[in-house]
Amino acid sequence: MSSENKNPIANATKNNSPGKPAAEANNFLKQIIDKDIASNKHAGKVVTRFPPEPNGYLHIGHAKAICVNFGLAQEYGGRCHLRFDDTNPETEEVEYTTSIQEDVKWLGFDWGQNLFYASDYFEQIYNWAEGLIKEQKAYVCSLSEDDLRRYRGDFTNPGKDSPYRSRSADENLELFRRMRAGDFAEGEHVLRAKIDMKSANMNLRDPLLYRIRKTAHHRTGNKWMIYPMYDFAHPLSDAIEHITHSICTLEFQDHRPFYDWCTENVPVPAKPHQYEFARLNLTYLVMSKRKLLQLVKEKLVSGWNDPRMPTISGLRRRGYPAQAIRNFAKRIGVAKAESLIDIEILESCARDELDEISHRTMAVLRPLKVVIENLVDSHQEELQPSVHPKKPELGKRKIYFSKEIYIDESDFMENPDSDFFRLGPGKEVRLRNAYVIQCKDVKKDSSGKVIELICTYDPITLGGKPPADGRKVKGIIHWVSARHCISADVNLYGRLFNVANPDTAPEGLDFKSNLNPNSLTVLKNVKLEPSLQEATLANRYQFERVGYFCLDSKDSKPEALVFNMIVDLTTHK
Ligand code: ATP
Ligand code: MG
Repeated sequence: MSSENKNPIANATKNNSPGKPAAEANNFLKQIIDKDIASNKHAGKVVTRFPPEPNGYLHIGHAKAICVNFGLAQEYGGRCHLRFDDTNPETEEVEYTTSIQEDVKWLGFDWGQNLFYASDYFEQIYNWAEGLIKEQKAYVCSLSEDDLRRYRGDFTNPGKDSPYRSRSADENLELFRRMRAGDFAEGEHVLRAKIDMKSANMNLRDPLLYRIRKTAHHRTGNKWMIYPMYDFAHPLSDAIEHITHSICTLEFQDHRPFYDWCTENVPVPAKPHQYEFARLNLTYLVMSKRKLLQLVKEKLVSGWNDPRMPTISGLRRRGYPAQAIRNFAKRIGVAKAESLIDIEILESCARDELDEISHRTMAVLRPLKVVIENLVDSHQEELQPSVHPKKPELGKRKIYFSKEIYIDESDFMENPDSDFFRLGPGKEVRLRNAYVIQCKDVKKDSSGKVIELICTYDPITLGGKPPADGRKVKGIIHWVSARHCISADVNLYGRLFNVANPDTAPEGLDFKSNLNPNSLTVLKNVKLEPSLQEATLANRYQFERVGYFCLDSKDSKPEALVFNMIVDLTTHK
C-alpha cells in the first residue's frame, strides 16, 4: 500500500504537466478480479453495480464509487448496473433518482439496459423471507424498540434471546402475513433472522429483516406495509442480478458476515462476494448526505447544486470537467485504509484538464482605467491572439487595442516593492498580446484612491519585441479595451469550510460552525474581452493570469453573463 494511505492527509504527487494522463494508484480490487478470472470463478465474468439509496444528491465520494464500479466493468469487459437500493420510503424521492441518473451519465458512464430498483424485487424478497420463516431461520419479534436495543447487548455484553424467538413457524408465518396486510401498527412487530444473540459481531445478533412502515413508496405506492431492511435487501438484490463483485465502503465490513448469511440461507441464483474499500474524504469538505442535506435545508448554500458543494451537480455547475473527476478517481486509487485526501489533489486534476481544454481569454476582475496618452481617441487596432497556445486548430480570437484600457487594480502599486514587476509610477510593463506601456501619471479621487493611470505605449514592442535600447521588461499583465470589452458578473469561490476537517467542531458546536463566511464573492461588472460574448456552456475559459472559468448554467443569460471560477491558476502570476 502506498504511503499516501497512511498519512492523515494524503499527499499524492501532484501532476501538473498538461497532457500527461493521471497516474493510476494501486487498486487491490484488480488483483482480486485477476485471480478470480484466472480460477474461472463466476465463469470469468465481472458484473459490478453502483447501488445508491435515492435519499440525496450524489457527491464526489459517490463519484469515486461510480468510477471504481463502472471502471472495473469497463476494464474487464463486464457490465455495471445502476441499482437504486430504495428500501426506505421515508427518505427517498423521485427527484433523487432523476438527479442520480443524470450525474452518473454526466460522469461518462452508461448502464445500458441495466437500470434496476431493489423495490422491483420486493415480492421475491418477501417470498424468500417466508421461506426463512418456514425453515425456522427467521421469526416475528414483538419487543418494543427500546427492548430490542436492550436485548441486543453491546460490544462488551452479549445479547439476550428475545422471548419471541421460539414462536412456531406457523405462528410466525401468520403474523408476518398480517404484518404485510397492514393489521399492525408501526413498531408492533419486526421480522428478525434467527442467528446468534451472543455473536461477537453485533450484526449477527438476530438482525432485523423487515419492519412495518405505513409510508407510500415513490415507486410501489401503497402496495407495501412492510419494507425489507437495507442489509437484507442488498445482498439478495446483488444475487438476483448475478453481481460477481459487490464493492462497497469499509463501514460495511462488519456487515459482510450477514451478507454471506443471506446468500447462504436463501436459495439465491448466485453468490456474490462483498469487498470493501476506503471511502473518500476530502479536506475542507463534508461528505455525509445528511450534513449536505442540512446545508441545503437551512439555506446555508443555494441548493444541492451550489457550486461550492461537493456534490456532482455542484461540481458540474462550478465547471469541473467530468474527465478531471475521472482522473482524480484514478490518481487516488482504491485503498483499504481510511484517509483524508487533500482537496488540492482534486484541484490539481481540474487544472491539468482545464489547461488542455480551456480557451484563453483576458478578463479584468477589478478594473482600473488606463489612458494611453500617445494614442489618438479613435485608435482601434485589431490583434489576433490564439485561442489555445497548443491547439492551432482552435483558431484565433479578436481583441482590440485602443486609447482607454482596463488593467486589474492588483497590477498597480503606487509605492511598489523592488520585486514588484508590474505597474507603478514611472514603471514599465508589457500588456499581454500587445505593447509595452509606461506609467507617466496617476489620478486619484478626493479620498486619495487611484482611479486612473496615464501611460504611454511603445509602438515597436508588439509581438514580444523589446524596446529600442533592448532593455528587459519583466512583467506581463492582462488588460481589455474599455471601448470593446463586455461586462459580466463573476462568482469567486473560496473553500466551503475554513478548517481541513470540518467534521470536528469545538465542544458544543457542530460542523456548521466551521463554514467559511467568505466562501462566495460576487464581483459585479467585471470587464471581459469581447470574444467571451460567444461563450458557451460546453466550453471552459482561462482568464489569463486569473484562473479557469465557465458560464453559470443556472444564472447566466446572453444579456447578463455570469461566470463561475472553477479553480485558480497555480502558475505564478
Ligand atoms: P447514506 O448514509 O445515506 O447511506 P451513503 O453516502 O452511504 O449515504 P449510498 O447511496 O448508500 O450513500 O451510497 C452509494 C454507494 O456509494 C455505496 O456503495 C457507498 O459505499 C458509496 N459511497 C458513499 N460515500 C462514499 C465515499 N465517501 N467514498 C466512496 N464511496 C462512497
Ligand atoms: Mg449507504
